[in-house]
Amino acid sequence: MNSLTVLFLFFLVAMVATQIWLARRHILNVLKYRPTVPQAFEGNISLADHQKAADYTAAKTRLGIIETLLGAFILLGWTLGGGLEAMNTLVITWEFDAVVTGTLFILGIMIISSVIDLPMSIYQTFRLEARFGFNKTTPATFISDMAKGLLLMLIIGTPLLAAILWIMEKMGSYWWIYVWLLWTGFSLLMLWAYPAFIAPLFNKFRPLEDGATRDRIQSLLKRTGFKSRGIFVMDGSKRSAHGNAYFTGFGKNKRIVFFDTLLETLSDAEMEAVLAHELGHFKRKHVIKRMVYIFSTSLLGLYILGWLMQQSWFFTGLGASSSSTYMALVLFMLVGSVFTFFLSPLTSWFSRKHEFEADEFAAQTSNADDLVNALVKMYKENAATLTPDKLHSVFYDSHPPAPIRIAHLQSIK
Ligand SMILES: [Zn+2]
Repeated sequence: MNSLTVLFLFFLVAMVATQIWLARRHILNVLKYRPTVPQAFEGNISLADHQKAADYTAAKTRLGIIETLLGAFILLGWTLGGGLEAMNTLVITWEFDAVVTGTLFILGIMIISSVIDLPMSIYQTFRLEARFGFNKTTPATFISDMAKGLLLMLIIGTPLLAAILWIMEKMGSYWWIYVWLLWTGFSLLMLWAYPAFIAPLFNKFRPLEDGATRDRIQSLLKRTGFKSRGIFVMDGSKRSAHGNAYFTGFGKNKRIVFFDTLLETLSDAEMEAVLAHELGHFKRKHVIKRMVYIFSTSLLGLYILGWLMQQSWFFTGLGASSSSTYMALVLFMLVGSVFTFFLSPLTSWFSRKHEFEADEFAAQTSNADDLVNALVKMYKENAATLTPDKLHSVFYDSHPPAPIRIAHLQSIK
């Protein structure tokens, strides 16, 4: 056996074992604290809501274990199991040039992968989310979302993919720099185009009406010197009862979006505090830092891919008998996350650090108590657990666990 095969299997088993171990710890911890509401939340969250959150978290995490196992088997099927090899044998019989062959190869894999994922995604939406009263998606919306997603992938993804493969084939040994430039340019273009052109294909956006809420938000924007292309309300309730607020776009094209579900649950003061937190991510340069991080890691990734592509063990070690640029690209994308999984505590830590900083910004420019109240309402509405497992949180949580986040806000107000 090739040593890459051994290394790959080792990392895959280590990743799956760790993920299942963390999930089991998380479920046990949540169920252990299920009988009583944590002291800090007494009076704000009822026992029934607390237990619903525990059951929802446990059910979601159990489904996650099945997804982990299934994902590992599918990955093995594509690589060492010969799935990619079989697909390659099929596309090369059509005798197109390398770019067209590669594009068809990758599109084929993407389409097969989404078909394999479909039962899981149907179960999650129409069973799990529905059981806890969150799902508002109708089968018609579900199907039309899927059709639109597929169409977008074909219209936008196909030319991009072909261009990347063309550069890899024709631009010599520095191709990875040109691909990086194209990829970075494309990402920036999408960030700019998404709020105006793509998001409206899936949801309806209306400007927030004039009135007390809007005045309050406008004054916060003025106070913090923030320019945006308007404040919008999105019909999130069309698909789910989960609520959220976010920013999209960049430069002058920034938009503030509130889910209609959030608008119904939060008071004006709480909305302002939530928005102040989101503004904090901009003002503390988190958005820029995140972009720099993503763009630099993708440059590093492409450089590594450029080196791996020239090694025949890279292909044979992962179950492909012949080397080609498109096979290298797919192997790299499929297998990469197995080798980087143990770095996830690091990225999660950075993300949680940014959340604390954004909370501090909100406490300074708005009001810490309002943000605490808004968070408690959002935990309740989303049935988010108040008692996550510590290690599970270290690996996965982009936001600090509820009790720690609230205690931090109360300490800085
Ligand atoms: Zn945040």
